[in-house]
Amino acid sequence: MYHYIIVGSGVGGSTLFKELNRKYPNKRILLLEMGDRGIKYNTLRGEVQIIYITSLGGSGLGAVGNAIRIDLRKIGIKNSEIYQEIERELNVREVPDSHINERSRYLFNYGFKRTPKFIDFDKCTSCGMCARKLCPYKWTPLRFLNTSNPYSKILSNFYVSSIGKEGDIFKVEGYHLITGKRMVFEGERVIVCGGGINSPRILSSILNNEHLGKNLFVDIFVTVGGVLNNCNLDRSVPMALYKRYDGFLLSPHYSIYLYRSVKRERRDVSSRDIYGIMVKIGDEGSGFVERDKVYKSVTKRDEKLLSRGIKKASGILQDMGVEKIYRTILRGSHPGGTCAMGRVVDKNFETEIEDLYVCDASVFPESPGLPPILGIIAMGKRLGDIL
Ligand SMILES: Cc1cc2nc3c(=O)[nH]c(=O)nc-3n(C[C@H](O)[C@H](O)[C@H](O)COP(=O)(O)OP(=O)(O)OC[C@H]3O[C@@H](n4cnc5c(N)ncnc54)[C@H](O)[C@@H]3O)c2cc1C
Repeated sequence: MYHYIIVGSGVGGSTLFKELNRKYPNKRILLLEMGDRGIKYNTLRGEVQIIYITSLGGSGLGAVGNAIRIDLRKIGIKNSEIYQEIERELNVREVPDSHINERSRYLFNYGFKRTPKFIDFDKCTSCGMCARKLCPYKWTPLRFLNTSNPYSKILSNFYVSSIGKEGDIFKVEGYHLITGKRMVFEGERVIVCGGGINSPRILSSILNNEHLGKNLFVDIFVTVGGVLNNCNLDRSVPMALYKRYDGFLLSPHYSIYLYRSVKRERRDVSSRDIYGIMVKIGDEGSGFVERDKVYKSVTKRDEKLLSRGIKKASGILQDMGVEKIYRTILRGSHPGGTCAMGRVVDKNFETEIEDLYVCDASVFPESPGLPPILGIIAMGKRLGDIL
Protein backbone atom coordinates (compact mmCIF):
# COMPACT_ATOMS: atom_id res chain seq x y z
CA MET A 1 0.00 0.00 0.00
CA TYR A 2 1.37 3.41 -1.00
CA HIS A 3 0.67 6.72 0.74
CA TYR A 4 0.78 8.52 -2.61
CA ILE A 5 0.59 7.29 -6.20
CA ILE A 6 1.55 9.81 -8.89
CA VAL A 7 0.66 9.03 -12.51
CA GLY A 8 2.99 10.72 -15.03
CA SER A 9 6.53 12.06 -14.58
CA GLY A 10 6.22 15.29 -16.61
CA VAL A 11 6.57 18.80 -15.22
CA GLY A 12 3.60 18.41 -12.84
CA GLY A 13 4.34 14.81 -11.75
CA SER A 14 8.10 15.27 -11.26
CA THR A 15 7.55 18.44 -9.18
CA LEU A 16 5.12 16.62 -6.90
CA PHE A 17 7.45 13.65 -6.63
CA LYS A 18 10.25 15.95 -5.50
CA GLU A 19 8.10 17.99 -3.13
CA LEU A 20 6.42 14.97 -1.49
CA ASN A 21 9.71 13.10 -1.02
CA ARG A 22 11.25 16.19 0.57
CA LYS A 23 8.29 16.68 2.88
CA TYR A 24 7.80 13.00 3.73
CA PRO A 25 11.20 11.28 3.49
CA ASN A 26 9.78 8.09 5.01
CA LYS A 27 6.46 7.76 3.20
CA ARG A 28 5.78 5.26 0.46
CA ILE A 29 5.51 7.22 -2.79
CA LEU A 30 5.05 5.54 -6.17
CA LEU A 31 5.48 7.25 -9.54
CA LEU A 32 4.04 5.40 -12.55
CA GLU A 33 5.20 6.51 -16.01
CA MET A 34 4.34 4.98 -19.39
CA GLY A 35 7.51 6.32 -21.04
CA ASP A 36 11.16 5.46 -20.76
CA ARG A 37 14.51 7.25 -21.28
CA GLY A 38 14.91 9.18 -24.57
CA ILE A 39 12.47 11.57 -26.29
CA LYS A 40 9.29 10.05 -27.73
CA TYR A 41 7.24 12.62 -29.65
CA ASN A 42 3.53 12.11 -30.33
CA THR A 43 1.94 14.03 -33.22
CA LEU A 44 -1.84 14.31 -33.52
CA ARG A 45 -2.83 15.51 -36.98
CA GLY A 46 -5.85 17.72 -37.65
CA GLU A 47 -6.74 21.35 -38.27
CA VAL A 48 -4.05 22.07 -35.68
CA GLN A 49 -1.22 19.58 -35.25
CA ILE A 50 -0.74 18.79 -31.55
CA ILE A 51 2.61 17.66 -30.21
CA TYR A 52 3.55 16.22 -26.82
CA ILE A 53 6.09 13.80 -25.41
CA THR A 54 5.50 10.50 -23.60
CA SER A 55 8.85 9.71 -21.99
CA LEU A 56 10.26 9.63 -18.50
CA GLY A 57 10.23 13.41 -17.83
CA GLY A 58 7.32 14.13 -20.22
CA SER A 59 7.04 17.06 -22.62
CA GLY A 60 9.53 19.16 -20.65
CA LEU A 61 12.31 17.08 -22.27
CA GLY A 62 11.67 18.88 -25.57
CA ALA A 63 11.34 22.34 -24.02
CA VAL A 64 13.47 25.09 -25.50
CA GLY A 65 14.14 26.39 -22.01
CA ASN A 66 11.67 29.31 -21.95
CA ALA A 67 11.02 30.29 -18.34
CA ILE A 68 8.22 32.84 -18.37
CA ARG A 69 6.14 33.82 -15.36
CA ILE A 70 2.43 33.39 -16.06
CA ASP A 71 -0.47 34.83 -14.13
CA LEU A 72 -1.69 32.16 -11.71
CA ARG A 73 -4.41 34.11 -9.90
CA LYS A 74 -7.09 31.86 -11.42
CA ILE A 75 -5.25 28.89 -9.87
CA GLY A 76 -5.28 30.64 -6.50
CA ILE A 77 -1.55 31.45 -6.48
CA LYS A 78 -1.04 35.16 -5.97
CA ASN A 79 2.48 35.66 -4.67
CA SER A 80 5.55 36.17 -6.83
CA GLU A 81 7.85 34.57 -4.21
CA ILE A 82 7.00 31.16 -5.59
CA TYR A 83 8.45 32.24 -8.95
CA GLN A 84 11.58 33.61 -7.30
CA GLU A 85 12.08 30.24 -5.60
CA ILE A 86 11.57 28.31 -8.87
CA GLU A 87 13.89 30.62 -10.82
CA ARG A 88 16.61 30.06 -8.20
CA GLU A 89 16.10 26.31 -8.33
CA LEU A 90 16.19 26.16 -12.15
CA ASN A 91 18.97 28.75 -12.38
CA VAL A 92 16.95 30.93 -14.79
CA ARG A 93 18.90 33.55 -16.74
CA GLU A 94 18.14 35.79 -19.67
CA VAL A 95 19.87 34.82 -22.91
CA PRO A 96 23.25 36.63 -22.91
CA ASP A 97 24.70 38.53 -25.90
CA SER A 98 27.03 35.64 -26.70
CA HIS A 99 24.01 33.42 -27.50
CA ILE A 100 21.90 35.81 -29.56
CA ASN A 101 21.91 35.24 -33.31
CA GLU A 102 23.53 38.11 -35.24
CA ARG A 103 20.45 38.74 -37.43
CA SER A 104 18.04 38.44 -34.50
CA ARG A 105 19.67 41.50 -32.90
CA TYR A 106 17.67 43.54 -35.41
CA LEU A 107 14.57 42.61 -33.38
CA PHE A 108 15.75 44.83 -30.51
CA ASN A 109 14.64 47.75 -32.74
CA TYR A 110 11.09 46.45 -32.39
CA GLY A 111 11.25 46.20 -28.61
CA PHE A 112 11.96 42.45 -28.40
CA LYS A 113 13.39 41.32 -25.05
CA ARG A 114 15.84 38.59 -24.11
CA THR A 115 14.00 35.42 -23.10
CA PRO A 116 14.60 34.08 -19.59
CA LYS A 117 15.71 30.43 -19.89
CA PHE A 118 16.58 27.46 -17.68
CA ILE A 119 19.74 26.88 -19.70
CA ASP A 120 23.31 27.06 -18.41
CA PHE A 121 24.77 29.54 -20.90
CA ASP A 122 28.31 29.05 -19.59
CA LYS A 123 28.16 25.60 -21.17
CA CYS A 124 25.49 25.89 -23.92
CA THR A 125 27.08 25.55 -27.39
CA SER A 126 24.14 27.13 -29.32
CA CYS A 127 23.63 23.90 -31.27
CA GLY A 128 19.96 24.78 -31.80
CA MET A 129 18.89 21.25 -30.82
CA CYS A 130 17.08 22.06 -27.54
CA ALA A 131 13.81 20.45 -28.68
CA ARG A 132 15.37 17.43 -30.31
CA LYS A 133 18.04 16.00 -28.07
CA LEU A 134 18.61 15.58 -24.35
CA CYS A 135 21.02 18.24 -23.20
CA PRO A 136 22.85 18.25 -19.84
CA TYR A 137 22.92 22.07 -19.86
CA LYS A 138 19.14 22.52 -19.83
CA TRP A 139 16.88 21.83 -16.87
CA THR A 140 14.40 19.02 -17.44
CA PRO A 141 11.97 17.22 -15.09
CA LEU A 142 14.52 14.38 -14.86
CA ARG A 143 16.40 16.54 -12.35
CA PHE A 144 13.41 16.31 -10.01
CA LEU A 145 13.28 12.52 -10.10
CA ASN A 146 16.20 11.82 -7.76
CA THR A 147 15.41 11.13 -4.12
CA SER A 148 17.06 9.60 -1.10
CA ASN A 149 13.72 8.32 0.26
CA PRO A 150 14.20 4.52 0.36
CA TYR A 151 10.42 3.97 0.33
CA SER A 152 9.87 5.84 -2.87
CA LYS A 153 9.78 4.13 -6.26
CA ILE A 154 9.60 5.04 -9.96
CA LEU A 155 8.19 2.49 -12.39
CA SER A 156 8.68 3.48 -16.04
CA ASN A 157 7.18 1.70 -19.08
CA PHE A 158 4.02 1.30 -17.01
CA TYR A 159 0.79 2.37 -18.70
CA VAL A 160 -2.04 3.26 -16.30
CA SER A 161 -5.31 2.12 -17.86
CA SER A 162 -7.79 2.76 -15.02
CA ILE A 163 -8.28 3.99 -11.48
CA GLY A 164 -10.88 2.55 -9.12
CA LYS A 165 -11.73 3.12 -5.47
CA GLU A 166 -12.91 0.55 -2.92
CA GLY A 167 -13.76 2.12 0.43
CA ASP A 168 -10.89 4.51 1.14
CA ILE A 169 -8.37 2.69 -1.00
CA PHE A 170 -7.54 3.50 -4.61
CA LYS A 171 -6.64 0.74 -7.06
CA VAL A 172 -4.47 1.99 -9.91
CA GLU A 173 -4.40 -0.57 -12.67
CA GLY A 174 -2.34 -0.95 -15.81
CA TYR A 175 0.29 -3.01 -17.59
CA HIS A 176 4.00 -3.02 -18.24
CA LEU A 177 4.58 -1.99 -21.83
CA ILE A 178 7.56 -4.33 -22.30
CA THR A 179 6.59 -7.46 -20.36
CA GLY A 180 2.82 -7.03 -20.82
CA LYS A 181 2.33 -7.90 -17.16
CA ARG A 182 -0.87 -6.47 -15.63
CA MET A 183 -0.51 -4.97 -12.15
CA VAL A 184 -2.71 -3.20 -9.61
CA PHE A 185 -1.22 -0.77 -7.07
CA GLU A 186 -3.08 0.31 -3.97
CA GLY A 187 -2.79 3.81 -2.58
CA GLU A 188 -4.36 6.22 -0.11
CA ARG A 189 -4.08 9.25 -2.39
CA VAL A 190 -3.66 9.48 -6.14
CA ILE A 191 -2.42 12.46 -8.15
CA VAL A 192 -2.98 12.27 -11.91
CA CYS A 193 -0.30 14.19 -13.87
CA GLY A 194 -0.73 12.68 -17.35
CA GLY A 195 -0.78 16.07 -19.15
CA GLY A 196 -3.47 17.92 -21.12
CA ILE A 197 -4.22 15.03 -23.49
CA ASN A 198 -3.93 12.03 -21.17
CA SER A 199 -5.12 13.15 -17.72
CA PRO A 200 -8.81 13.28 -18.78
CA ARG A 201 -8.45 9.86 -20.41
CA ILE A 202 -7.03 8.32 -17.23
CA LEU A 203 -9.71 9.98 -15.10
CA SER A 204 -12.58 8.92 -17.35
CA SER A 205 -12.33 5.44 -15.77
CA ILE A 206 -13.45 6.80 -12.39
CA LEU A 207 -14.85 10.31 -12.82
CA ASN A 208 -18.19 11.19 -14.32
CA ASN A 209 -17.85 14.92 -14.83
CA GLU A 210 -19.40 16.64 -17.86
CA HIS A 211 -16.41 19.01 -18.21
CA LEU A 212 -13.76 16.28 -18.24
CA GLY A 213 -11.79 16.36 -21.52
CA LYS A 214 -13.54 19.53 -22.75
CA ASN A 215 -12.00 23.02 -23.10
CA LEU A 216 -8.80 21.84 -24.82
CA PHE A 217 -6.39 24.63 -25.78
CA VAL A 218 -2.92 24.10 -27.24
CA ASP A 219 -1.41 27.61 -27.69
CA ILE A 220 -1.61 27.53 -31.49
CA PHE A 221 1.52 28.67 -33.29
CA VAL A 222 2.71 29.16 -36.83
CA THR A 223 6.19 30.06 -38.06
CA VAL A 224 6.49 32.60 -40.87
CA GLY A 225 9.71 33.44 -42.64
CA GLY A 226 11.89 32.86 -45.67
CA VAL A 227 15.41 33.23 -46.96
CA LEU A 228 18.05 35.33 -45.22
CA ASN A 229 21.37 34.07 -46.55
CA ASN A 230 23.76 32.58 -43.98
CA CYS A 231 21.65 33.72 -41.03
CA ASN A 232 22.40 30.44 -39.16
CA LEU A 233 19.19 30.54 -37.13
CA ASP A 234 19.13 26.73 -37.29
CA ARG A 235 22.29 26.75 -35.13
CA SER A 236 21.14 29.31 -32.59
CA VAL A 237 19.31 29.16 -29.27
CA PRO A 238 15.62 28.86 -30.28
CA MET A 239 13.30 31.69 -29.23
CA ALA A 240 16.18 33.68 -27.73
CA LEU A 241 14.13 36.91 -27.86
CA TYR A 242 10.42 37.54 -27.60
CA LYS A 243 7.83 40.25 -27.63
CA ARG A 244 4.27 40.12 -26.32
CA TYR A 245 1.64 41.97 -28.33
CA ASP A 246 -2.04 42.24 -27.52
CA GLY A 247 -3.22 38.61 -27.98
CA PHE A 248 -0.07 37.08 -29.52
CA LEU A 249 3.62 36.60 -29.00
CA LEU A 250 6.44 36.79 -31.55
CA SER A 251 9.79 35.04 -31.24
CA PRO A 252 12.61 34.13 -33.67
CA HIS A 253 12.33 30.43 -34.50
CA TYR A 254 13.88 28.07 -37.02
CA SER A 255 11.38 25.49 -38.26
CA ILE A 256 12.13 22.44 -40.37
CA TYR A 257 8.60 22.82 -41.84
CA LEU A 258 9.50 26.31 -43.05
CA TYR A 259 12.72 24.99 -44.56
CA ARG A 260 10.76 22.29 -46.42
CA SER A 261 8.25 24.83 -47.80
CA VAL A 262 11.06 27.04 -49.12
CA LYS A 263 13.04 24.08 -50.45
CA ARG A 264 10.09 23.00 -52.64
CA GLU A 265 10.59 26.20 -54.67
CA ARG A 266 14.27 26.98 -54.09
CA ARG A 267 16.58 24.00 -54.44
CA ASP A 268 19.72 26.14 -53.80
CA VAL A 269 18.68 27.07 -50.25
CA SER A 270 20.20 25.36 -47.21
CA SER A 271 18.83 25.20 -43.66
CA ARG A 272 21.30 27.87 -42.51
CA ASP A 273 19.59 30.36 -44.90
CA ILE A 274 16.17 30.07 -43.27
CA TYR A 275 14.96 32.78 -40.89
CA GLY A 276 11.58 32.50 -39.16
CA ILE A 277 9.44 34.21 -36.55
CA MET A 278 7.00 32.18 -34.49
CA VAL A 279 3.55 33.65 -33.95
CA LYS A 280 1.92 32.10 -30.88
CA ILE A 281 -1.54 32.82 -29.53
CA GLY A 282 -3.45 31.84 -26.41
CA ASP A 283 -6.27 30.02 -28.22
CA GLU A 284 -9.81 29.43 -27.03
CA GLY A 285 -10.60 26.14 -25.30
CA SER A 286 -12.52 24.87 -28.32
CA GLY A 287 -11.17 21.33 -28.44
CA PHE A 288 -11.93 18.11 -26.64
CA VAL A 289 -10.28 14.81 -25.75
CA GLU A 290 -12.04 11.45 -25.74
CA ARG A 291 -10.62 7.96 -25.22
CA ASP A 292 -9.78 7.48 -28.93
CA LYS A 293 -10.17 10.95 -30.34
CA VAL A 294 -8.72 14.44 -29.95
CA TYR A 295 -10.36 17.35 -31.73
CA LYS A 296 -9.06 20.91 -31.91
CA SER A 297 -10.56 23.63 -34.07
CA VAL A 298 -9.53 27.20 -34.85
CA THR A 299 -12.18 29.69 -33.78
CA LYS A 300 -12.94 33.03 -35.44
CA ARG A 301 -11.13 34.83 -32.61
CA ASP A 302 -8.08 32.53 -32.98
CA GLU A 303 -8.01 33.19 -36.74
CA LYS A 304 -8.12 36.93 -36.16
CA LEU A 305 -5.25 36.87 -33.67
CA LEU A 306 -3.16 34.60 -35.89
CA SER A 307 -3.61 36.81 -38.93
CA ARG A 308 -2.71 39.91 -36.92
CA GLY A 309 0.43 38.15 -35.67
CA ILE A 310 1.34 36.88 -39.14
CA LYS A 311 0.96 40.38 -40.58
CA LYS A 312 3.17 41.89 -37.88
CA ALA A 313 5.85 39.18 -38.24
CA SER A 314 5.82 39.44 -42.05
CA GLY A 315 6.36 43.21 -41.85
CA ILE A 316 9.38 42.74 -39.57
CA LEU A 317 10.80 39.98 -41.79
CA GLN A 318 10.49 42.17 -44.88
CA ASP A 319 12.32 44.98 -43.06
CA MET A 320 15.05 42.44 -42.29
CA GLY A 321 15.42 41.64 -45.98
CA VAL A 322 13.27 38.51 -46.44
CA GLU A 323 11.72 38.88 -49.89
CA LYS A 324 9.13 36.11 -50.08
CA ILE A 325 7.23 35.05 -46.96
CA TYR A 326 6.36 31.39 -46.38
CA ARG A 327 4.45 29.87 -43.47
CA THR A 328 4.12 26.53 -41.74
CA ILE A 329 1.03 24.56 -40.78
CA LEU A 330 -0.71 25.40 -37.49
CA ARG A 331 0.71 23.54 -34.52
CA GLY A 332 0.30 23.49 -30.74
CA SER A 333 2.65 22.14 -28.09
CA HIS A 334 1.00 23.29 -24.85
CA PRO A 335 -2.14 21.12 -24.51
CA GLY A 336 -4.16 21.99 -21.42
CA GLY A 337 -7.52 22.98 -19.97
CA THR A 338 -9.11 19.52 -20.01
CA CYS A 339 -9.43 19.09 -16.21
CA ALA A 340 -9.99 22.79 -15.53
CA MET A 341 -9.91 24.23 -12.04
CA GLY A 342 -13.43 25.29 -11.06
CA ARG A 343 -15.00 22.64 -13.31
CA VAL A 344 -13.16 19.33 -12.81
CA VAL A 345 -10.93 20.10 -9.81
CA ASP A 346 -11.49 22.50 -6.92
CA LYS A 347 -9.07 25.17 -5.72
CA ASN A 348 -7.10 22.45 -3.87
CA PHE A 349 -6.62 20.47 -7.12
CA GLU A 350 -8.98 17.78 -5.78
CA THR A 351 -11.67 16.13 -7.92
CA GLU A 352 -15.15 15.36 -6.59
CA ILE A 353 -13.67 12.02 -5.48
CA GLU A 354 -11.93 12.58 -2.16
CA ASP A 355 -8.13 12.17 -2.26
CA LEU A 356 -8.01 12.08 -6.06
CA TYR A 357 -6.08 15.06 -7.46
CA VAL A 358 -4.87 16.43 -10.79
CA CYS A 359 -1.71 18.51 -11.21
CA ASP A 360 -0.50 19.42 -14.69
CA ALA A 361 -1.36 21.70 -17.62
CA SER A 362 -4.87 20.21 -17.82
CA VAL A 363 -5.79 22.21 -14.69
CA PHE A 364 -5.41 25.66 -16.32
CA PRO A 365 -8.98 26.99 -16.78
CA GLU A 366 -7.85 28.90 -19.86
CA SER A 367 -4.74 29.20 -21.98
CA PRO A 368 -2.02 31.35 -20.41
CA GLY A 369 -0.85 31.98 -24.02
CA LEU A 370 2.72 31.71 -22.74
CA PRO A 371 5.16 28.87 -22.05
CA PRO A 372 3.59 27.13 -19.05
CA ILE A 373 6.43 25.19 -17.36
CA LEU A 374 7.14 27.69 -14.58
CA GLY A 375 3.39 27.89 -13.86
CA ILE A 376 3.03 24.08 -13.71
CA ILE A 377 5.99 23.82 -11.32
CA ALA A 378 4.31 26.49 -9.14
CA MET A 379 1.14 24.37 -9.12
CA GLY A 380 3.12 21.29 -8.10
CA LYS A 381 4.71 23.18 -5.22
CA ARG A 382 1.32 24.47 -4.12
CA LEU A 383 -0.26 21.02 -4.15
CA GLY A 384 2.82 19.68 -2.34
CA ASP A 385 2.04 22.18 0.46
CA ILE A 386 -1.62 21.16 0.54
CA LEU A 387 -1.01 17.37 0.71
C1 LIG B 1 8.80 20.83 -28.34
C2 LIG B 1 8.26 21.50 -27.12
C3 LIG B 1 8.92 22.61 -26.60
C4 LIG B 1 8.40 23.25 -25.47
N1 LIG B 1 9.11 24.30 -24.93
C5 LIG B 1 8.66 24.87 -23.78
C6 LIG B 1 9.43 25.87 -23.13
O1 LIG B 1 10.52 26.24 -23.58
N2 LIG B 1 8.93 26.41 -21.99
C7 LIG B 1 7.71 26.05 -21.47
O2 LIG B 1 7.30 26.61 -20.44
N3 LIG B 1 6.97 25.08 -22.07
C8 LIG B 1 7.44 24.46 -23.19
N4 LIG B 1 6.71 23.45 -23.75
C9 LIG B 1 5.46 23.02 -23.13
C10 LIG B 1 5.74 22.16 -21.89
O3 LIG B 1 6.78 21.25 -22.15
C11 LIG B 1 4.47 21.41 -21.48
O4 LIG B 1 3.40 22.33 -21.39
C12 LIG B 1 4.66 20.74 -20.12
O5 LIG B 1 5.75 19.85 -20.16
C13 LIG B 1 3.40 19.99 -19.73
O6 LIG B 1 3.60 19.40 -18.48
P1 LIG B 1 2.54 18.38 -17.90
O7 LIG B 1 3.01 17.99 -16.55
O8 LIG B 1 1.19 18.98 -18.06
O9 LIG B 1 2.53 17.13 -18.90
P2 LIG B 1 3.71 16.27 -19.54
O10 LIG B 1 5.02 16.91 -19.33
O11 LIG B 1 3.31 15.98 -20.95
O12 LIG B 1 3.72 14.93 -18.68
C14 LIG B 1 2.73 13.95 -18.72
C15 LIG B 1 3.38 12.62 -18.40
O13 LIG B 1 2.39 11.63 -18.15
C16 LIG B 1 2.77 10.43 -18.78
N5 LIG B 1 1.53 9.65 -19.03
C17 LIG B 1 0.48 10.04 -19.79
N6 LIG B 1 -0.50 9.09 -19.76
C18 LIG B 1 -0.05 8.09 -18.98
C19 LIG B 1 -0.59 6.84 -18.59
N7 LIG B 1 -1.81 6.43 -19.01
N8 LIG B 1 0.15 6.05 -17.78
C20 LIG B 1 1.37 6.45 -17.34
N9 LIG B 1 1.93 7.61 -17.69
C21 LIG B 1 1.24 8.44 -18.50
C22 LIG B 1 3.46 10.90 -20.06
O14 LIG B 1 4.29 9.89 -20.61
C23 LIG B 1 4.24 12.11 -19.55
O15 LIG B 1 5.51 11.74 -19.06
C24 LIG B 1 7.20 22.79 -24.86
C25 LIG B 1 6.55 21.66 -25.39
C26 LIG B 1 7.07 21.01 -26.49
C27 LIG B 1 6.37 19.78 -27.02
